[in-house]
Amino acid sequence: GSLRFASSFKAADINIERNTACKPRPDPSTLVFGKQFSDHMLTINWSEKDGWEVPQIKPFENLSLHPASSALHYSIELFEGMKAFRGVDNHIRLFRPMLNMERMHRSTDRSCLPLFDKGELLECIRKLVEVDQEWVPYSQDASLYIRPTFIGIEPSLGVSRPGKAMIFVIVGPVGPYFATGSFNPVSLLADPSFVRAWKGGVGAYKMGGNYGPTIMVQNEAVKRGCQQVLWLYGEQEEITEVGTMNLFIYWTNEKGERELVTPPLDGIILPGVTRQSLLDLARAWGEFKVTERTMNMKELLKALDGGRILEVFGAGTACVVCPVGSLLYRGKTYQIPTMQNGPDLAKRFHKELTDIQYGRKASEWAPLV
Ligand code: PMP
Repeated sequence: GSLRFASSFKAADINIERNTACKPRPDPSTLVFGKQFSDHMLTINWSEKDGWEVPQIKPFENLSLHPASSALHYSIELFEGMKAFRGVDNHIRLFRPMLNMERMHRSTDRSCLPLFDKGELLECIRKLVEVDQEWVPYSQDASLYIRPTFIGIEPSLGVSRPGKAMIFVIVGPVGPYFATGSFNPVSLLADPSFVRAWKGGVGAYKMGGNYGPTIMVQNEAVKRGCQQVLWLYGEQEEITEVGTMNLFIYWTNEKGERELVTPPLDGIILPGVTRQSLLDLARAWGEFKVTERTMNMKELLKALDGGRILEVFGAGTACVVCPVGSLLYRGKTYQIPTMQNGPDLAKRFHKELTDIQYGRKASEWAPLV
């Protein structure tokens, strides 16, 4: 493309139209994830002809799309998930937001959508949160969920790079993942006949197309009495992710060393912001070995049988960390002693990250809005 296409919108140009009919805000105790939205939204349009338009913050409203829009037919869609937190000092913070912007940029590139300046998008999002700041819950176990989205809106059924596209960002308050702040362990279904992502595919990108097909598998897990899916991959039944979280195993390895293991970013793993943060923290502590490597079901069951598994937990923006209590695999339920072991490490990670997010501990990871 021409030089113009390499350019970006600028946050300084943003046009703000304030909502004059703001909604009453829901009671934080009644929040259901993803069902309540604030009074404003951010939209940024792009076309091949005119490049990026001026970013708009405007009253929350329905979109109007041509029925041939490529997002609706070929899933030319990607998204992000991040949060804003109201701290103990009443200041609002984001958590490592550039990692979300970088991931979104990679998803954009893989989707043939137009690239943009990551810092400018973050600044636009920051302004949206500022405009809707009263929607950031006054609570240390709730937050404002931020959903940046990028869609192809080319009004054509041709399977080709969209000549029209739109970034939009919506936000809404979300409650605590664990009711009453207590850690509840989840049960997992590990069925190798279902695959979330594969080598050479797009599992490492946050594209909508990766998520829709998982709902039926999630429902299958519930039918079999489990709460979430443990995604396996390949002949060796590598353990990859749990639900929409990255997976961590804290164990005593074959050499008798304490080790924290998580699968490597080899293309089938979503590079989680939480995952990166747990790895960074654990490496900074330097108290045990930290390894990014594959682990398969055979190894996990052997270690479980040998009493060497200490904690298994998922890690993601929704819950920070989520302990795993059991595993249904080939018709047999295996108990995992995560809760019996504290879970000391999972709790420590949870405290460390939430202390940073809610401003109880100063950190460069939590810039003010
Ligand atoms: N894996 C998958 C498949 C996900 O959708 C998510 C949520 N983005 C994660 C892991 C966790 O990523 P993060 O820590 O950035 O929320």
